Amino acid sequence: MIKTDVLVIGAGPVGIFSVHQLGIIGLKAEVVDNLDKIGGQCIELYPDKPIYDIPAVPECTGESLTKNLLEQIKPFKTNFHLNERVQEVLKEKNLWKVTTNKNTIFLTPNIIIAGGVGSFEPRKFSCDGAEKFEDRGVFYTIKDKKIFKNKTICIFGGGDSALDWAIELSKFSKVILVHRRNEFRGANNSIAIVKKLEKEKKLTIRTPFQINSIEGKNEIEYITIKNEDNKTEKIKTDYVLGFFGLIMKLGPIADWGINLDKKHIPVNTENFQTNKEGIFAIGDICTYPGKLKLILSGFHEAALAARACFKLAKPNEKYRFEFTTTSKNVQDRLGIKKNND
Ligand SMILES: Cc1cc2nc3c(=O)[nH]c(=O)nc-3n(C[C@H](O)[C@H](O)[C@H](O)COP(=O)(O)OP(=O)(O)OC[C@H]3O[C@@H](n4cnc5c(N)ncnc54)[C@H](O)[C@@H]3O)c2cc1C
Repeated sequence: MIKTDVLVIGAGPVGIFSVHQLGIIGLKAEVVDNLDKIGGQCIELYPDKPIYDIPAVPECTGESLTKNLLEQIKPFKTNFHLNERVQEVLKEKNLWKVTTNKNTIFLTPNIIIAGGVGSFEPRKFSCDGAEKFEDRGVFYTIKDKKIFKNKTICIFGGGDSALDWAIELSKFSKVILVHRRNEFRGANNSIAIVKKLEKEKKLTIRTPFQINSIEGKNEIEYITIKNEDNKTEKIKTDYVLGFFGLIMKLGPIADWGINLDKKHIPVNTENFQTNKEGIFAIGDICTYPGKLKLILSGFHEAALAARACFKLAKPNEKYRFEFTTTSKNVQDRLGIKKNND
C-alpha cells in the first residue's frame, strides 16, 4: 500500500506539470499511466511534430516538451507507475483507496485525474484464440525483444510499428509479416528495407491476408490466415504480434461515481474539483464553459488543482501563496543552492 499526498492519473503533459505544481508547495505525488512511456498524446501521437503555442517556447516537439517537463520535476524524484491502469477508486474513511489492474494500491486524500481522452489501448485481434493466448504468445507491445530470439514470429500490421519490429526481429528470428493490403503505410525507407529483406529471404511477406485463428493447446502451435477470397493458409509460429494502432477508451473512469458530461468530467473552475471531494480533473478530460483543449490551459488547471490538494493533504497547515523567484521554501524544494534576493 503506497501512501501519498496526491495520486495523479495520467502522465501526459498536464499530469507531469501537476507534479511540479504539487512539488513546489511541498506535496508528494505518485503518477500512474496505462502506457509504457511518459508523455501522453505528445509522445504517443505526435513526438516529432512541432508545437508552436507553449508560452515562452516558440517551437518544440511533443518529445522535447515531455523531456523538458520531466527535467523540471527531477528534484521531486517522482515515482511513475507505467503500464498500469487505474481500475477502482473507493472512499475509505476520509481517504481514497485507488487500485490498479496490477493490484498496486494507493491511499491518498487527493486524486488528480489528468487522463486526457482516456487510456490508450492497443487495437486487438478479434479472431478465435486471440484472448486465450494474450500475453502468452500474442502481444501488442514489446517489452523485452530477447524472448523472440531464434523463434518464428508472425507480425500483423502495415504501419511503422509493424515494419520497424519486422526489421528488428528479422535480425535474429524468422519473421512473417502479414498485412491485409498489398501496400504498407509506414515510412518509405522502412518499406524499402522490408522489401529488400524479403528479396534476400531474410523475411517473408504475406499480403493481402488477415488473421483467421490462433490455434494450440497450452501454447500457440500455428495460426491460420485468410485472403479476400477466403482462401486460408496455415503457418506454424511461436509468437503472434499485432500492431494496429491505439484506440482511446474512457475505460474505468466512467465507473468511479464521478459526474460525466459525455466523455468529459465537469469541474468547478475555482479549484478543478469534480463532484467528489478530493477528486480533481484537469487537462483534456475536464470540461467547463469555455474549456480549450490546449496544453497551456491544462497547465493553469494543474496550478489551481494543486493548491486545492494542499487543504486535504495538510489540514493543519495554512497554504501561503509564494512566487518561485522569491520563495526560499520553493527554492529549497527545488534544490537550488543560491537564493535570489
Ligand atoms: C496531432 C495532435 C496535435 C496537437 N497539437 C497541439 C498543439 O499544437 N498545442 C496544444 O496545446 N495542444 C495540442 N494538441 C493537444 C494536446 O496534445 C492535448 O491537449 C494534451 O496532450 C492533453 O494533455 P493531458 O495530459 O490532459 O492528456 P493526454 O496527453 O491525453 O495524457 C493522458 C494520459 O492519461 C493516461 N490514462 C487515462 N486513463 C487512465 C487510467 N485509468 N489509468 C492510467 N492512465 C490513464 C493515458 O494513457 C495518457 O497517457 C495536439 C493533439 C494532437 C492529437
